[in-house]
Amino acid sequence: MERTREDLAWAAGLFEGEGCLTLSQRPRNAPIVTMGMMDKDVVDRFEVIMGFGKRYQEAERYGPGKIFYRWQTTTFEHAQATIAMLWPWLGERRKQRAAEILAAPRTPHYRTRTHCKHGHLYDEENTKHWVGSPGTRYCRQCAAHRSRVSYAKKKREMKEV
Ligand SMILES: [Zn+2]
Repeated sequence: MERTREDLAWAAGLFEGEGCLTLSQRPRNAPIVTMGMMDKDVVDRFEVIMGFGKRYQEAERYGPGKIFYRWQTTTFEHAQATIAMLWPWLGERRKQRAAEILAAPRTPHYRTRTHCKHGHLYDEENTKHWVGSPGTRYCRQCAAHRSRVSYAKKKREMKEV
Protein backbone atom coordinates (compact mmCIF):
# COMPACT_ATOMS: atom_id res chain seq x y z
CA MET A 1 0.00 0.00 0.00
CA GLU A 2 1.17 3.51 -0.78
CA ARG A 3 1.01 5.68 2.29
CA THR A 4 -0.36 9.10 1.61
CA ARG A 5 0.26 12.17 3.71
CA GLU A 6 -3.38 12.01 4.75
CA ASP A 7 -2.89 8.43 5.98
CA LEU A 8 0.05 9.46 8.12
CA ALA A 9 -1.72 12.53 9.48
CA TRP A 10 -4.71 10.36 10.36
CA ALA A 11 -2.47 7.76 12.06
CA ALA A 12 -0.61 10.46 13.97
CA GLY A 13 -3.83 12.01 15.24
CA LEU A 14 -4.97 8.61 16.43
CA PHE A 15 -1.61 7.88 18.02
CA GLU A 16 -1.62 11.23 19.79
CA GLY A 17 -4.82 10.19 21.53
CA GLU A 18 -4.51 6.42 21.94
CA GLY A 19 -0.84 5.61 21.47
CA CYS A 20 1.72 4.80 24.09
CA LEU A 21 5.52 4.97 24.19
CA THR A 22 7.23 2.90 26.87
CA LEU A 23 10.44 1.01 27.60
CA SER A 24 10.74 -2.67 28.42
CA GLN A 25 12.42 -4.05 31.54
CA ARG A 26 13.92 -7.10 29.85
CA PRO A 27 15.73 -6.60 27.61
CA ARG A 28 16.53 -3.32 29.26
CA ASN A 29 15.06 -0.23 27.58
CA ALA A 30 13.82 -1.71 24.34
CA PRO A 31 11.26 0.79 23.01
CA ILE A 32 7.67 -0.44 22.99
CA VAL A 33 5.15 1.40 20.85
CA THR A 34 1.48 0.52 21.22
CA MET A 35 -1.81 1.84 19.95
CA GLY A 36 -5.01 0.29 21.14
CA MET A 37 -8.72 0.82 21.33
CA MET A 38 -12.00 -1.05 21.05
CA ASP A 39 -12.68 -0.24 17.40
CA LYS A 40 -11.17 -3.07 15.42
CA ASP A 41 -11.52 -1.36 12.04
CA VAL A 42 -9.56 1.65 13.28
CA VAL A 43 -6.71 -0.50 14.65
CA ASP A 44 -6.76 -2.49 11.38
CA ARG A 45 -6.34 0.67 9.34
CA PHE A 46 -3.52 1.87 11.61
CA GLU A 47 -1.71 -1.45 11.13
CA VAL A 48 -2.06 -1.27 7.33
CA ILE A 49 -0.66 2.26 7.27
CA MET A 50 2.31 1.33 9.47
CA GLY A 51 2.99 -1.85 7.51
CA PHE A 52 4.52 -3.76 10.44
CA GLY A 53 3.86 -4.58 14.08
CA LYS A 54 1.93 -7.26 15.90
CA ARG A 55 -1.70 -7.47 16.88
CA TYR A 56 -3.15 -8.46 20.23
CA GLN A 57 -6.64 -8.78 21.57
CA GLU A 58 -7.65 -8.45 25.17
CA ALA A 59 -11.09 -9.69 26.02
CA GLU A 60 -13.03 -8.35 28.99
CA ARG A 61 -10.64 -5.51 29.69
CA TYR A 62 -13.41 -2.91 29.70
CA GLY A 63 -16.30 -5.10 30.66
CA PRO A 64 -18.03 -8.29 29.59
CA GLY A 65 -18.09 -8.94 25.86
CA LYS A 66 -15.84 -6.01 25.08
CA ILE A 67 -12.63 -6.63 23.19
CA PHE A 68 -9.68 -4.29 23.27
CA TYR A 69 -7.58 -4.35 20.08
CA ARG A 70 -3.95 -3.46 20.31
CA TRP A 71 -1.22 -2.87 17.75
CA GLN A 72 2.30 -3.12 19.10
CA THR A 73 5.90 -3.14 18.04
CA THR A 74 8.90 -3.90 20.22
CA THR A 75 11.87 -3.64 17.91
CA PHE A 76 14.05 -0.56 17.89
CA GLU A 77 13.88 -0.25 14.10
CA HIS A 78 10.09 -0.30 14.06
CA ALA A 79 9.81 2.12 16.96
CA GLN A 80 12.13 4.46 15.13
CA ALA A 81 10.17 4.06 11.87
CA THR A 82 6.82 4.68 13.61
CA ILE A 83 8.10 7.81 15.29
CA ALA A 84 9.69 9.08 12.08
CA MET A 85 6.48 8.58 10.08
CA LEU A 86 4.24 10.30 12.63
CA TRP A 87 6.73 12.93 13.79
CA PRO A 88 5.45 16.04 11.90
CA TRP A 89 2.03 15.73 13.55
CA LEU A 90 3.01 14.76 17.08
CA GLY A 91 2.60 17.17 19.97
CA GLU A 92 5.52 18.50 21.97
CA ARG A 93 5.07 16.10 24.88
CA ARG A 94 4.97 13.08 22.55
CA LYS A 95 8.01 14.25 20.64
CA GLN A 96 9.92 14.62 23.87
CA ARG A 97 8.89 11.16 25.04
CA ALA A 98 9.73 9.64 21.64
CA ALA A 99 13.23 11.14 21.69
CA GLU A 100 13.63 9.89 25.25
CA ILE A 101 12.75 6.27 24.54
CA LEU A 102 14.93 6.12 21.44
CA ALA A 103 17.89 7.52 23.34
CA ALA A 104 17.53 5.27 26.40
CA PRO A 105 20.66 3.17 26.97
CA ARG A 106 19.81 -0.35 25.88
CA THR A 107 21.23 -3.75 26.56
CA PRO A 108 22.00 -5.40 23.23
CA HIS A 109 20.08 -8.56 22.56
CA TYR A 110 21.65 -11.48 24.38
CA ARG A 111 22.68 -13.33 21.23
CA THR A 112 24.20 -10.30 19.57
CA ARG A 113 26.35 -9.33 22.53
CA THR A 114 30.05 -9.58 21.82
CA HIS A 115 31.18 -9.58 25.45
CA CYS A 116 29.97 -11.14 28.70
CA LYS A 117 28.74 -8.86 31.46
CA HIS A 118 32.27 -8.72 32.88
CA GLY A 119 33.69 -7.61 29.55
CA HIS A 120 35.30 -10.84 28.35
CA LEU A 121 35.14 -11.37 24.60
CA TYR A 122 32.82 -14.12 23.36
CA ASP A 123 35.30 -15.58 20.90
CA GLU A 124 35.70 -19.20 19.86
CA GLU A 125 38.06 -20.01 22.70
CA ASN A 126 36.18 -18.32 25.50
CA THR A 127 32.64 -19.37 24.60
CA LYS A 128 30.98 -22.45 25.96
CA HIS A 129 27.57 -23.52 24.66
CA TRP A 130 25.03 -25.33 26.72
CA VAL A 131 24.13 -28.67 25.25
CA GLY A 132 20.37 -28.88 24.92
CA SER A 133 19.86 -25.13 24.95
CA PRO A 134 20.79 -23.72 21.55
CA GLY A 135 21.82 -20.09 21.52
CA THR A 136 22.83 -20.07 25.18
CA ARG A 137 26.42 -19.06 25.63
CA TYR A 138 28.58 -18.82 28.61
CA CYS A 139 31.89 -17.26 29.35
CA ARG A 140 34.73 -19.66 30.20
CA GLN A 141 36.78 -17.00 31.99
CA CYS A 142 33.89 -16.14 34.30
CA ALA A 143 33.10 -19.81 34.88
CA ALA A 144 36.75 -20.50 35.77
CA HIS A 145 36.76 -17.52 38.12
CA ARG A 146 33.57 -18.69 39.82
CA SER A 147 34.94 -22.18 40.38
CA ARG A 148 38.23 -20.78 41.80
CA VAL A 149 36.27 -18.61 44.23
CA SER A 150 34.06 -21.44 45.37
CA TYR A 151 37.06 -23.80 45.68
CA ALA A 152 38.91 -21.25 47.84
CA LYS A 153 35.83 -20.80 49.99
CA LYS A 154 35.45 -24.55 50.47
CA LYS A 155 39.11 -24.84 51.38
CA ARG A 156 38.77 -22.11 54.01
CA GLU A 157 35.71 -23.78 55.47
CA MET A 158 37.52 -27.11 55.68
CA LYS A 159 40.40 -25.52 57.59
CA GLU A 160 38.03 -23.91 60.05
CA VAL A 161 36.42 -27.21 60.97
ZN1 LIG B 1 33.22 -13.33 31.43
